[in-house]
Amino acid sequence: MRQIHPPRELFDFARVLEEGGKKCYLVGGAVRDYLLGREVSDFDVATDARPEEVVRLYRRVIPTGIKHGTVTVLWKGLEIEATTFRTESSYADGRHPDAVAFAATIEEDLSRRDFTINAMAFDLSERRLLDPRGGREDLGLSLVRAVGDPLERFGEDGLRPLRAIRFAAQLGFEVEAATLAAIGPSIEVFRLVSAERVREEFLKIALSDRPSRGLRLLEATGLLSEISPELAACRGVEQRGMHVFDVLDHLYACVDAAPPDPVLRLAALFHDVGKPAAKVERPGEAPTFYRHEEYSAKDAETILRRLRFPNALIDEVAHLIRCHMFSYDDSWSDAAVRRFVARVGPDRIESLFALRIADGTGIIGRPVDPRSLQSLRERIDAVLAAKEAFGLGDLAVKGADLASIAVPPGPKMGMMLKELLEAVIDDPALNERSRLLEIAERLKPKYGL
Ligand code: ATP
Ligand code: MG
Repeated sequence: MRQIHPPRELFDFARVLEEGGKKCYLVGGAVRDYLLGREVSDFDVATDARPEEVVRLYRRVIPTGIKHGTVTVLWKGLEIEATTFRTESSYADGRHPDAVAFAATIEEDLSRRDFTINAMAFDLSERRLLDPRGGREDLGLSLVRAVGDPLERFGEDGLRPLRAIRFAAQLGFEVEAATLAAIGPSIEVFRLVSAERVREEFLKIALSDRPSRGLRLLEATGLLSEISPELAACRGVEQRGMHVFDVLDHLYACVDAAPPDPVLRLAALFHDVGKPAAKVERPGEAPTFYRHEEYSAKDAETILRRLRFPNALIDEVAHLIRCHMFSYDDSWSDAAVRRFVARVGPDRIESLFALRIADGTGIIGRPVDPRSLQSLRERIDAVLAAKEAFGLGDLAVKGADLASIAVPPGPKMGMMLKELLEAVIDDPALNERSRLLEIAERLKPKYGL
C-alpha cells in the first residue's frame, strides 16, 4: 500500500482549523486513491467546525452545499470541500430529506459513509490513518464492501448500489458478495434516485478503463434495465454476418474500444441500440437492420434526455450515431467525399473515425487497424485543403443577397440556401455570387416566388 502524501498546502489549511480549536481530516476518495497510488485531484475534508465557523476562518469560501454542511474553500491554489461531521439520520428522516444532523466525532461520520474503502480518514495534524471499518484490508483484497449491513445502507440511499458498481468499474475491483447480493432487492429504492445523480455515476462507469465490466455488473444485478431498458433489450439479439457478438456484447466491446471521452464513449455504447426495433428476420439468412442508425440515434436521444445530459452533448452523440454507417471505397467521387464531409461536419470527422474504429473492433472482437480509414482520410484532407464550401457560412451568397432578388427572409430562403449549398458541394466552381444568384432566380418558381 502506498503512502498518504497530501500537498503541504493542505496541512497549512488544516492548521488554521486546529488553531481555531477544531479537528480536520482528509476523507473519502483522496485517502483511498493515495493508498492505491492513483492520481488524487480533489480534496474532501471533514471537520467538527460548523459551516459558519469555516466561513469565518477562511477568506475565500463558496457556500456550495451549506444546507448539507459543505463549503468550498479556495486555499493556495487548492479547492477544498469542507464538510462538518454528519450522521445518517438526515436520510433516515424521510420527511425532512434536507435536514442535516451533525455528528460529534469522526468515527460517527465515517460510519455513515458508503463503502469501507471510502470510510477512512487521515488526521492532518497527527498524520495518522483512521480506518475503523477495515478499508485498507478491502483495498488489498480489491473489494467494494458496504459499511455495515448492505441492505440497510442501500435502503437509506438508493444511489449506493450504482456507486458500488461504479467503484468496481473504476478501480477494477469486485463487489463483495453480500454487498452485490443486496443490489437486486434494493431496486425499488434505486427508482427514487434523481436522474442527475444516476447520470454522474453512469458517466463515470462509461469513462472507466473497461466500461464493460461495470455494464455487465449493471446487467447482472438488474440495474441496466432500470437505467436503460433499451440497452438491456439488445441482449440475445443475434446479428450473424461478420459479427461475432450479439448486439449487447457488440456494444460493450465498442465502448471498451472507444477513447475515454464522454461523447465518444456514449456514442459507442448506444450506436446500435435501435437494432432490436430495426431488425428484419430473413429465413435462412442473416437478419437485416436497415436504417438502424436512425432508430439508434432516436433511442440515444431519449435515453440521454431521460438521464438529463446536456442538450449539446446529446446532439453530438446522436449526430455521430446517425453518421456511423458510411462505407467508403476508392470509387467515391470528389463530390461524394465533399457530401460526406458536409454531412458529418469537418470538425467531427475525427470523432466519427474513432467511433468507426471502435465499431469495427466490436464486430470482429479484436482491434481494428486504424489505417483502414487512411485512404478516406487522405481524400478528405485533399478536399479540405481546397477550402471549398461545406456549410452555409462558406457560400458566396448570404440571405441579404437573396433578398436583393426578392426572396423574402423566412423558411423558403433557408431551403433555397441549402439547395444552393448542395449544388456547390457537387460542383465547387458554382460558388460565385453571380452564378448562385442566377441559379436562385431559376429556383424561385419552385418555391412559389
Ligand atoms: P471520486 O474520486 O469519484 O470523487 P469519491 O470517493 O471522492 O470518489 P464522492 O462522490 O466525491 O466519491 O464522495 C466523497 C465521499 O463521500 C465518498 O468517498 C464517501 O465517503 C462519501 N459518500 C459520497 N456519496 C455517498 C453516499 N451516497 N452515501 C454514503 N457516503 C457517500
Ligand atoms: Mg470526490
